[in-house]
Amino acid sequence: MSELHYQVDLLKAMNQKLSGRERMYRLVCDNTANAFLYCSFERNEIATLGKWKDFFSFEVSDIRDMAHLFEEVDDPYVVPLREALFAEKSGKESAVVECMRRDRKQWLKFQVRIVYDESGQPTDKIISIEDITKFKSQNDELAYMAYYDELTGLYNRNYFVRELAGLIRKAAETNAAVSVMIIDIDDFKKVNDGLGIVVGDELIQQFGSFLKELTDHDVIASHFTSDLYCIAIYDPVGTKSVEHIHRQIRTRTREAFRLSSGHALQITVSIGVAEYPEAASSALELINCAEIVMFKGKNMGKNTIQYFDTPILNEFIHNIEIENKLKEAVFYNNFLLYYQPQFYAGNKKLRGVEALIRWKDGNNGMISPSVFIPIAEKNGAIIPIGSWVVERSIEQYARWSRQYGKHFILSINISALQCGKEDFVDSILGMIKKYDVQPSEIELEITESILIDDFEAVSSKLKLLRKHGIRISLDDFGTGFSSLSYLKKLPIDTLKIDKSFIDTVLTDSPTRIITESIINMVKTLGFESVAEGVEAEQQYRYLHAVGCDVIQGYLLGKPQTAEDIERLLQEA
Ligand code: C2E
Ligand code: MG
Ligand code: MG
Repeated sequence: MSELHYQVDLLKAMNQKLSGRERMYRLVCDNTANAFLYCSFERNEIATLGKWKDFFSFEVSDIRDMAHLFEEVDDPYVVPLREALFAEKSGKESAVVECMRRDRKQWLKFQVRIVYDESGQPTDKIISIEDITKFKSQNDELAYMAYYDELTGLYNRNYFVRELAGLIRKAAETNAAVSVMIIDIDDFKKVNDGLGIVVGDELIQQFGSFLKELTDHDVIASHFTSDLYCIAIYDPVGTKSVEHIHRQIRTRTREAFRLSSGHALQITVSIGVAEYPEAASSALELINCAEIVMFKGKNMGKNTIQYFDTPILNEFIHNIEIENKLKEAVFYNNFLLYYQPQFYAGNKKLRGVEALIRWKDGNNGMISPSVFIPIAEKNGAIIPIGSWVVERSIEQYARWSRQYGKHFILSINISALQCGKEDFVDSILGMIKKYDVQPSEIELEITESILIDDFEAVSSKLKLLRKHGIRISLDDFGTGFSSLSYLKKLPIDTLKIDKSFIDTVLTDSPTRIITESIINMVKTLGFESVAEGVEAEQQYRYLHAVGCDVIQGYLLGKPQTAEDIERLLQEA
């Protein structure tokens, strides 16, 4: 009897222990966010656990009920789900499948695990079901971000380059061509600066959407950065040719873009075109070639389409050669300064000299600053070169004024990059102090391009320099955006009328009218006018007659060495 009691107690204890375990498992299951399905093959038993009821409105009490699960998922996922749920049929230990629900609102992840006995027979199966909708949508977003540009919905640069590389590979196999068009909105900076980036962004977005309409299987488009877009065309012919797309762009840009701010903006674009295999054989090189010609077109006056060809390539290579040699020239300081005298038109007395850099190249003789200064501006070499010009010319001027006791004006050309440097004002003031010259004897020549990027910042630097007595001269007037109305906002003392006006002033009546009105306006504003590139006596006489203050040009003095200028100073 006691033996029986003992057995009963033992059973009770075991049951308690078992129900304690079961409670524990239940608790664990119920506290996860997942639903579980458990099958015992040995006992032919099936049970649902965890958050089953949150996922499904049916119960599974028989193995056949599992078929209801297939009704829960969207059609394409039925077969993969069946394979996963019955993974034991192919002897697998586990399987995972992600399925979209039939209502397309939820993603479910099924993880299946099979337990086998020693003889290889399946004994148990556990299926865990998880809601991965959130994770999926984050992933979709990440995938979107990896391929697309958020603002325009066009491909982003990285993905575009990959796709373009694919088109080039395909073209190599099929002997086809691939055209690349780089498209840049002209004067976009003015929109952004003038109307704000929200308006700028909307313009970029609208133009991007328009480009998207031009795409199809063989025409892909990307938004690179800011106002720069790229289109690639595989096997360009007919309606998917550069010419056709260019025509569509022209037609669209003839009409204004209507923005939600109420602005109606009419734009023009500059386009550069390069074609595989002619221009380059890799995606990046091809884009680069198109970009080179696009910028060339921009420099030539915007609203253009430029095609990459051999002369351009040669010019490009030539520029690269110059660029490399320029680095050497900066290192060995193979530069010297020439000075071109300027004379008052009235009495032909020396008004000053303009310092003009010269580059002595061992093989090629002198290389013109018109060739290397633009390159130096692009690669940053203008910074050391410019500092050298400032210091050497001021040092030279100080020596002259000590030696000859004469005071005149030293004009120094300043590039945008130089002016943009934070210590620009201090470095100029530092040199004036170091060589003990009068600030009013130093004149800095700037061009309008200096003002394009950041009018306010540059303008305040120039104002500061003027406060210290330094003169500011606007060089090459008439070649930039030359709006007469903005002149009065500029802190300048002198305006130099570009040589291109002087060249035709006697023969072309519109030029004459413009030149005279510039001279009159300069007078009204209280500036001094300088005519550049005066080569003929008649030009001089005419300019003098219409009231131009100062004459600079080959007629009265070419750019010359410091020694030649000394002779001039002795005579004067
Ligand atoms: P710029 O400042 O407009 O200088 C005037 C240019 O016109 C000089 O060319 C000068 O030699 C040339 N010139 C003057 N009078 C006549 C003339 O009667 N007939 C002809 N055909 N040409 C005349 P250069 O010395 O070749 O300089 C070209 C440009 O290079 C300069 O134009 C200036 O923009 C730039 N540059 C020269 N030196 C420097 C420098 O030290 N720093 C910077 N940033 N730029 C410089
Ligand atoms: Mg100049
Ligand atoms: Mg000039």
